Parts: sequence; structure tokens; C-alpha cells
Amino acid sequence: MPLRTILEIGHPTLRKSARPLRPDEIALPAWRDFIEDLVATMRHANGAGLAAIQVGETVRVAALEVGDNPRYPYKPRIPLTVAINPVLTPLSDQTFENWEGCLSVPGLRGPVTRHQHLAVRYLDPHGQTHEIQTHGLTAGTWQHECDHLDGILFVDRVTDPTRLTTWQNWERFYREPFLETLPEIQANTRPAPTPLGANRG
Ligand code: ZN
Repeated sequence: MPLRTILEIGHPTLRKSARPLRPDEIALPAWRDFIEDLVATMRHANGAGLAAIQVGETVRVAALEVGDNPRYPYKPRIPLTVAINPVLTPLSDQTFENWEGCLSVPGLRGPVTRHQHLAVRYLDPHGQTHEIQTHGLTAGTWQHECDHLDGILFVDRVTDPTRLTTWQNWERFYREPFLETLPEIQANTRPAPTPLGANRG
């Protein structure tokens, strides 16, 4: 399982739109091997997620996993998930402020507005369809990874560029206020009812 090089901001590939993997491609040994490399590279870099495009493959594949993560010790756990052709649908208009960083944007963190409640549909590496709902920080991680598949980096979505910060200064100046917001974000696992007929697609 060779580690792949993670592309960094400024590399044009990070700005491309990735193509879906066809169902008949998913089982090909080359993509199976690639997915193993993607997961190994994510783990080696202590990422909470890694999109294929970040290692130079412009296909709609992303890996997510949060265990005891030194980059994000406050994040709830996510079991290893390999999402192929993921589609995200917000379940309400509610948003929260997430602090994000990215393996492709070394050294920086910034505040990003994310949907609080999401439906996620994706194929796993066996070609099985999964439909889940996710909320709060984990929903934020999904949105960050799926943005990569459309060539979007978190810095594009930073709500207030004057609050871009190094990781060290985040610990010093932003960590505590953010952690105070977490219980409320994480307890909010129910989307408010949407008006009848509202089109959320
Ligand atoms: Zn990223």
C-alpha cells in the first residue's frame, strides 16, 4: 500500500471537478488498490478525511475516518468509510460554524459555515448503496470532503478571512470558544420540520 503524495493548494488538479466512478469500474483491481492507498495515506497524515482528488485522481471517491485523531481530538468518531459518488442533501436550513483545516492547505485553519443536518447517499467499494443521516461536526467533515470533489477548498468558504489562523494560534485563541459551542452543535440531531412542498433537492 504505497502512500500517495498529497497535493497542496495551488496545484491545478485540486480545482478540477471529479468524475463519478461507473459501477463497472468500482470492482476493478486498479481502483481497489487505489482505495487502499487513499486510506493508508489518510491515516499516515492523520486526516479525518481524504478525497481522491487530493492525491491526483479526479474521481468522486473520498475516505473518512476519525479515531483518536491528534489533529482533531474533539471530533466524534467516524468508522472508516469509503464513499464513492457521494451525494449530499441538506435536511434543513440550519447551519453552524465549523473550524476546518485541510491536508492540502498546510498550516491554516478557518471558520466555515456548514449545514447542521445532511442526508448522505454513496456507494461503498463493494458497490452497495448506503443512505445515512449525519449532523454537526460529522456533517461538516462530509461537506468538506465532498467539496473537494467539486474543486472547492475550505478557504473558498471561509466566512471571515480575518480569522484565518495557524494551528498554533488556533489552539491559543480560538480553541476554547469553539469547544464551548460544541455541546449545542452535537446535541442538535433533529432537523426542524420543513414546510410542506419545500424542495430541498
Ligand atoms: Zn481537505
